[in-house]
Amino acid sequence: MREADLVILGAGPAGMAAARTAAEAGLAVVLLDEQPRAGGQIYRDVERAGESRAAILGADYLKGAELVRDLPHPNIRHLTGATAWQVEEGRRVAFTLDGEAELLEGRRLLIATGALERPMPIPGWTLPGVITAGAAQILLKQSGIVCEGAVLAGCGPLLYLVAAQMCRAGTPPLALVETQTFSDGLAALRHIGGALRGWRALAKGLGLLAELRRAGVRRYTAASELAVDGASRAQALRFTAGGRTHCIDCSTVLLHHGVVPNTQVARSIGVPHRWDDAQRAFLPERDLWGRAAGLETVFIAGDGGGIGGAGAAALSGRLAALAIACDLGRLSPGERDRAARPLQAALSRELAVRPFLDRAYPPFAGALLPGDDTLVCRCEEVTAGDIRRYASIGCLGPNQTKAFGRVGMGPCQGRYCGLTVTELLADANGRTQDETGYYRIRPPLKPVTLGELAALAASQSKETTE
Ligand SMILES: Cc1cc2nc3c(=O)[nH]c(=O)nc-3n(C[C@H](O)[C@H](O)[C@H](O)COP(=O)(O)OP(=O)(O)OC[C@H]3O[C@@H](n4cnc5c(N)ncnc54)[C@H](O)[C@@H]3O)c2cc1C
Repeated sequence: MREADLVILGAGPAGMAAARTAAEAGLAVVLLDEQPRAGGQIYRDVERAGESRAAILGADYLKGAELVRDLPHPNIRHLTGATAWQVEEGRRVAFTLDGEAELLEGRRLLIATGALERPMPIPGWTLPGVITAGAAQILLKQSGIVCEGAVLAGCGPLLYLVAAQMCRAGTPPLALVETQTFSDGLAALRHIGGALRGWRALAKGLGLLAELRRAGVRRYTAASELAVDGASRAQALRFTAGGRTHCIDCSTVLLHHGVVPNTQVARSIGVPHRWDDAQRAFLPERDLWGRAAGLETVFIAGDGGGIGGAGAAALSGRLAALAIACDLGRLSPGERDRAARPLQAALSRELAVRPFLDRAYPPFAGALLPGDDTLVCRCEEVTAGDIRRYASIGCLGPNQTKAFGRVGMGPCQGRYCGLTVTELLADANGRTQDETGYYRIRPPLKPVTLGELAALAASQSKETTE
């Protein structure tokens, strides 16, 4: 079994920044990520981006190159292509690397597994040709592929960014169909103070909208009743906007209505979570350093602790690393606090704009509570109507839905249906999301083969006999 002072799950901005800070404080760090290269979601493949791809992806993307460049350090071991599928006792991580399972134990664990796109179940969302906007961006970042004949639908800053990147690549989307309404914009004005503190993010958003206007991309707002039409693949997006029904012929539909924390690892080791109305998601409970409630050795940084963006992710990673270095005797409390002060101030500036953005771009109501015929759990093919039926016969929480219809028990282990199932049950039973709860997450968090497990057993017995 490998050992380290600090094991970090996730090499996005939070994990990379934490690794560097901890290494500089003298800790032996193992940074583990299932991707082949460091960067996380936002900076995916940044070290391989040539000039033309960098011009398409933009200046914010290129900022990640610095974090990736800073990563090599004698105290950091970066395991790429390593998928963590179990965490035991808050410190021992089981993962698969090169087809073999291995164990790794750290005196501290930092969970920096980031965010997932919020599932957007609308009629037709499982047809070939429908993917998320984030998935389209992954194709662009990783392989330079741009979706043609595409309509983007949903809401949020990432939708504008992906649309603008498509324009820069010379393949503008056919249209942008947005679900936020004028009254969402008005309600967001309540948070204008924070928005002005985070004016850079606002200015970037306005810049993206100007790019879309110049490229002649049609925009529809306050869209509702979204559905993808097509017999065997996506052929059109249908929706209502401005009191009329529209139907745009297209071969690709890119859906997106925000990102939510990826809480699978934290939940699997018993970190308590609470519902956050503003982010409309469950967030893990932790202190200002990121230490998980009730688990002394576990920290959470980045979007996995609450959506804050890449800048906030890196800062929260650094803060967690300082606290860990102090825990392990590498920094005194005074040194920790002195180093933390400017980071905390910067973090508060980064987060100031969030309440405005959360209110201006709420998730699409029609996808939070989809119609009865819409599939919710894609792995096990369970519809929203099935979930409502389970509720009508006494099902109160997501764990019971597993027994009723295997919901959340497929290969994704509930990552893509969990929040929708909670929302549907809460609505049907007239209970809050906290009362309704979430799936009890159990290992393996990601699929693992018997061959991989057998390799682990063999290496363990070899260690014992040596
Ligand atoms: C698809 C997508 C695209 C996005 N694109 C942008 C963008 O272009 N611009 C922008 O401003 N924001 C973007 N965001 C938001 C952005 O992800 C965050 O603000 C920022 O990247 C958060 O950083 P992080 O370090 O918390 O997590 P991330 O950057 O998400 O990094 C988490 C890392 O954890 C790894 N990981 C997760 N689970 C495991 C596991 N079990 N085993 C091993 N490794 C694991 C992942 O592979 C990933 O590399 C995007 C979000 C998503 C979901």
